[in-house]
Amino acid sequence: MPDITSPFGGLTIDFGATGNAAPLAAVPVASASPAAESPHETNVLILGSGPAGLTAAIYAARANLAPIVLAGFQPGGQLTITSEVENYPGFPEGIQGPELMARFRQQAERFGTRVFDVEADRVDFSSRPFRAWAAGVEYRAQAVIVATGASALWMGLASEERLRGQGVSACATCDGFFFRNKAVAVVGGGDTALEEALYLTRFASKVHLLHRRAEFRASRIMQARAESHPGIEIHRGVTVDEVLGGESVTGVRLRDVATGTTRDLPVEGFFVAIGHRPNTAPFETWLAKDEKGYLVVEHETHSSIEGVFIAGDVHDHRYRQAVTAAGDGCRAAIDAERWLEEHEPAEAVVATAG
Ligand code: NAP
Repeated sequence: MPDITSPFGGLTIDFGATGNAAPLAAVPVASASPAAESPHETNVLILGSGPAGLTAAIYAARANLAPIVLAGFQPGGQLTITSEVENYPGFPEGIQGPELMARFRQQAERFGTRVFDVEADRVDFSSRPFRAWAAGVEYRAQAVIVATGASALWMGLASEERLRGQGVSACATCDGFFFRNKAVAVVGGGDTALEEALYLTRFASKVHLLHRRAEFRASRIMQARAESHPGIEIHRGVTVDEVLGGESVTGVRLRDVATGTTRDLPVEGFFVAIGHRPNTAPFETWLAKDEKGYLVVEHETHSSIEGVFIAGDVHDHRYRQAVTAAGDGCRAAIDAERWLEEHEPAEAVVATAG
């Protein structure tokens, strides 16, 4: 596999087919601003370490803002529970989700980002420096970027967890391609489930849509599309008792809600589409949420509190893609940098809880 020499400073990256991470950590760390001297104080505190958070970190670090990232309970975010990522630009061979996120992190750390694998459980945005607490440690920052993402809801079956990435997925856009000419099942009755089912008809030989009730929650137009699609078979009034398979998914065991009888449905893919939950718990009293529970962005990436910015899936329930989240993280870092340029560090920012 050929080496590619970067025009940006002689960095050599081997984009091998196996996708082994390049030794980016060996590259010298950039000098950081004075804020870096205090271990838990920073110009920019970034909450979350998915594509949005780590892209924000790359930009903030390269702007010499010495950012701190609190990586959260799932460092690297949702992509770390995905297998192959084939739609992230720049990786024509595809890349494993965890490896992609390791590269994001290496790139952020290369420029001086300090990443702590802890979860922020409380914040105080009432004045600057803003404060956040994680694992009992207080962090202080002149600006904050909230990029805590959203978590897919899972059904809670042991077999579902065991086969995650081996045929069990919560993202048809990410993984549908791997089920060409295979039968798959989608569970859920909302717009997401129907959208995923319709999307999967592009690849799968058959899409079984499994819903626990007779009526769908999804919009009428989506119902009509799913019901009239020849590639979709709808199973109403069923729950999933178990995902079947040893190394990979071979089927699902369905239970008829009315009669209690069970039957096995052979499928090779099982898509869970029962909703997402944005990770907003620490911000409940500080940042406004929309009717779906996602954080509200006021303008560009600004929140309702000056100096607090929002990026990625924690506010975006429409696109929810790694590349859109990364773009959002970039925007938030640029907005934070510009805002910091215009506001002296000592200036108090008045914010109201609730
Ligand atoms: P949702 O509307 O909350 O629907 C979740 C579905 O999953 C429901 O049908 C629910 O069943 C089912 N469900 C929940 N827990 C389950 C479990 N443990 N086992 C089996 N089934 C379970 O979530 P969503 O579909 O992700 O949509 C979220 C929001 O985004 C909605 O407002 C939706 O309209 C919107 N959205 C819009 C678009 C679009 O406009 N293109 C696309 C996607 C989503 P019950 O119905 O029985 O409760």
